[in-house]
Amino acid sequence: MLIGRFPERIVVIGAGMAGLVCTLELMKQGYNVRLLEANSQPGGRIYTMRDQFADGLFCEMGAAFIGAHHFLTLHYAQQAGVQLINVPAPNRSLSYIDGRLIIDSPVEPAWWPVSLTSEERTLGYAGMLEKYLKPGLNATGDPSLPGWPTKQAVLLDSMTMEEYLISQGASSGAIKLLEIGYMQMLGDGIRKVSALQRLLDLKMASSGRNTQTIAGGMDQLPKKLALTIGSNISYGCAVTHIEHSNKGVTIQYTNSGEVFTICSDRVIVAIPSTVLRTIHFSPPLSKEKNDVIQNQLSTSVTRTVIQSRTRFWNNLSSFTTVNTDLKIGWLLDATFTQTTSRRGLICSYASGESARELSKAGNFHSAVSEIKQVLPELSYQYEGGTVFSWDHNPYSRGAYAWYKPKQMIRMLPTLSAEQGRIYFAGDNTSLFPGWIEGAISSALRAVNQIISSRLS
Ligand SMILES: Cc1cc2nc3c(=O)[nH]c(=O)nc-3n(C[C@H](O)[C@H](O)[C@H](O)COP(=O)(O)OP(=O)(O)OC[C@H]3O[C@@H](n4cnc5c(N)ncnc54)[C@H](O)[C@@H]3O)c2cc1C
Repeated sequence: MLIGRFPERIVVIGAGMAGLVCTLELMKQGYNVRLLEANSQPGGRIYTMRDQFADGLFCEMGAAFIGAHHFLTLHYAQQAGVQLINVPAPNRSLSYIDGRLIIDSPVEPAWWPVSLTSEERTLGYAGMLEKYLKPGLNATGDPSLPGWPTKQAVLLDSMTMEEYLISQGASSGAIKLLEIGYMQMLGDGIRKVSALQRLLDLKMASSGRNTQTIAGGMDQLPKKLALTIGSNISYGCAVTHIEHSNKGVTIQYTNSGEVFTICSDRVIVAIPSTVLRTIHFSPPLSKEKNDVIQNQLSTSVTRTVIQSRTRFWNNLSSFTTVNTDLKIGWLLDATFTQTTSRRGLICSYASGESARELSKAGNFHSAVSEIKQVLPELSYQYEGGTVFSWDHNPYSRGAYAWYKPKQMIRMLPTLSAEQGRIYFAGDNTSLFPGWIEGAISSALRAVNQIISSRLS
C-alpha cells in the first residue's frame, strides 16, 4: 500500500534487466515511472547481434545461458512468455592446450599435457574439480542467510583464487589446467580475483540440471518486458547530471544533442559503476559511495565471431565448446539452437588482458588465425566475421564487475545502499555480477528500499 503523496514519480535510469524489472514492479505498485535509456533498444548487456550474418543467423555477445536454479530469471522469462530450450550436454569435452586438441570423456579420459601428481592423474579432470573446488564451494556459505558473511567467507575473500587452489593442495600443473576456460572469465584471471567471488560465481554457473537459453535469441526477454512497459520508456536519453535534495531529484539528459531535464521524487540508477562514474552528482555522493563507484573493476571481454559455410565442428562433439590456452579463450558453436541454415557461427570469448589485446584495431585477423589453429577446417569454410569489445561499448565500459581480495565484502553494502532519494540497482550492486539473476535481485532490493522508505 502506498502512503503519502500519490502517485510518487520515479525515474529509472537504464533499460537493462535491472531497470526493466524496477520499472515493472514499481508500475505494479502504482508508482508513476519513467525509464530513461541511452540506447535505441532495451536489454543492455543482453545483446543478440543480428543482421551481420547470412540466413538470419544471430549470435549472443552478452548473456547466453540461464541456469536451472536462476529462479528470478526463469520467473521473468515465464512472465515475458519467451520459449526456453535446453542447452545440450556435450558428450565429450574439448580442450586446446600447447598446440594440441585434447578430447576428454568418461569412457576415454584424456592424457593432459601438464605436469600432474599421480593422484591428480588418477582423479582426472572431473575428480580434480571435485577435490579442489567442493570445499571452497561449501565454505562460501549461503549469502541469503542471516550471519553471512561467515568467517570462512571472509577468509575466502582475503585470498586470490590461485592462493585458494594452492591451499587445497593443487599442483601447478592442475592449476594451469583448471584455469583454462570458464575459470579465467572473471576479471584478470585466477591470480588476481577474490576466491570468494570466483567460487560464488561458479555456484551460479553450475547447475545440477539442464542449463537453458531462449529460442530465437536472448534479446527477446528484455524486448518483451519492454513492450509491457510501453510508452513509459524513453529511448535515446543519455543521463549526464543528477541534482538531488531531500525534496526531490532533477535528472538531466541529452537526446539527439539537445539537453532536457525531468523532475521526480526519487531515482533508481540501474547502470554499471563504470558508466555511473561519468555522471555528475550535485551535491556529490558521499566519499564512501563515490570511492566504490570509482574503484569497482570491470572484466574485459572481447567476442570474435566467424561465419562458416557448414558446421563441420558437429563431428567433434554433440555441442562444440573448446577451452583453449590461446588469447581467444573459450570457443563455442553459437548457432546450436538455430536449425534453419547449414551455415554456422563459431564465437570466441576472450577475457582479461587477452580481451584488451584482441579489442585493439587490426587484431581481428590474429583472433581468426587462432580460431583456425584450433579448427583448421575453417580455412576452407570461412565466410567472414566480426569482433565486439565490451570495453569499447560506451554504455557498459566493460563486461561485468570483478573484485580483488578484500574488496567484495567491503564494497557490496556501500554499492547497494541508497543515498537520500537516489537508489542503486544493476548486477554490479548484487552478489552475482555477470548474471541476469544478480541484476533482477538488485532491482527487487531497490524497489523494496523505496517501498520501505515510504513506510518508515
Ligand atoms: C560477455 C557477457 C556474458 C554474459 N553471460 C551471461 C549468461 O550467460 N547468463 C546470465 O545470466 N548473464 C550473463 N551475463 C550478464 C548479464 O548480461 C548482466 O548481468 C545483465 O544483463 C546486467 O543487467 P543490468 O540491468 O544490471 O545492466 P545493463 O544490462 O548493463 O543495463 C544498463 C542499461 O543502462 C543503459 N545506460 C548506461 N548509461 C546510461 C546513461 N547515462 N543514461 C541512460 N541509460 C544508460 C545501458 O544502455 C543499458 O541498457 C553476461 C554478460 C556479458 C557482458
